[in-house]
Amino acid sequence: MPSTPHCAEMKLQTLHLARRSPHRRSLWCAGLLITRIPPTPHLCTCMEPGVGEVPQTTGPSTDDSPQADSHFLREPHGVLSHIPRPAPPPVAETRMDGHFSRAYWSGFKLATLRYPAAVLSGTAIARQIHKEIQASVEQLVAQGNRRPHLAVILVGDDPASRVYVRNKTRAASLLGISSSALLRPAGVSQAELLDLIDQMNRDWRVSGLLVQLPLPGHINERAVCNAIAPEKDVDGFHIVNIGKLVLDQRTMVPATPAAVWEIIKRTGIETVGKNVLVVGRSKNVGMPIAMLLHSDRNHERPGGDATVTIAHRCTPRDQLAHHCRLADIVIAAAGVPQLITADMVKEGAVVIDVGINRIHETGSGRIRLVGDVDFEGVQQKAGFITPVPGGVGPVTIAMVMKNTVTAARNALAH
Ligand code: ADP
Repeated sequence: MPSTPHCAEMKLQTLHLARRSPHRRSLWCAGLLITRIPPTPHLCTCMEPGVGEVPQTTGPSTDDSPQADSHFLREPHGVLSHIPRPAPPPVAETRMDGHFSRAYWSGFKLATLRYPAAVLSGTAIARQIHKEIQASVEQLVAQGNRRPHLAVILVGDDPASRVYVRNKTRAASLLGISSSALLRPAGVSQAELLDLIDQMNRDWRVSGLLVQLPLPGHINERAVCNAIAPEKDVDGFHIVNIGKLVLDQRTMVPATPAAVWEIIKRTGIETVGKNVLVVGRSKNVGMPIAMLLHSDRNHERPGGDATVTIAHRCTPRDQLAHHCRLADIVIAAAGVPQLITADMVKEGAVVIDVGINRIHETGSGRIRLVGDVDFEGVQQKAGFITPVPGGVGPVTIAMVMKNTVTAARNALAH
């Protein structure tokens, strides 16, 4: 980490500082970055000259290192994201209503910096998790064990599902996990599918097993999820694993909720006592995210101790906006493009976009991936934001791999 951290880092450091300080509301509030006088070495690059002083610098950074035109958002585990540094306005042009403003407050100097949100790179976080998984796999192999094996069952030829399966088997091979994709036609009967699952359950070489969802309408998804042996259920959809999750017991946490958790934790975002809005209540995504974030941090499977609100398709739009404005952390998992807009988001909020929507671009007719959040608009208001693609998606795949290694380790332990 450079000796004078960049502003995105300082937001993070200020969050940590705010947690410790009796002046916490004043230190970090609604996206305001407030620096103390005299500045700590960490915060000094954001200091403005006081009243009557001659400005020495015109911007938020005095860092002239080769990385001076970038922000590297770091946390204890490494680089998280890389975001462009906005050009600092000259001090002479500061305005309270502008992009950069200043104010003074008894003994403290307050500088308001309205930078775009720090973009939390899921790709970078996934890379970090990959390294941990690789090390874990190599340790297993060095101890004389087989490589973990992931079996993925794909029914039909839905293009999105094919991409997800390919991404999972690719990630597995990159991480030293062996894998197999078992393809069945869309017309496969439920009995045949259950029989295949049973074979995989009994195959000792298979550490982890998942059936790519959604399944064709004639197949009962719940019956399929419950047919997978709970100890091989790397998607965490088996009724026993969901029950354990709800009871705060250690279990296979479904990959997307686990990814949201990892992004929050590895970024160092505080959840205890915070207001979290989860938009979406699906049993595989919204509900488990809410479970993770509201539950007790001291339980067997630690939770986030947040105050969680769940919105869903019956939540009126004005109520959705109301709850969103109260939220320190917004997690959008509704599958509705542009659902969360800048006017709904509190200054400095953390916005995690779980949505993956395929939209046809007008004109070119090309298919583009977008989330549930109006990224460009919300980025101007939020403190942290995940992009789509490159946000929750890559971390989700990493969590499937992590669950596979956990399943392999658990099998050895029993
Ligand atoms: P996923 O499994 O990715 O969560 P689903 O389509 O199963 O996706 O679930 C979408 C969720 O989003 C549902 O819980 C639904 O109630 C919620 N939802 C859909 N539209 C809205 C909306 N306009 N506002 C809030 N929640 C919504």
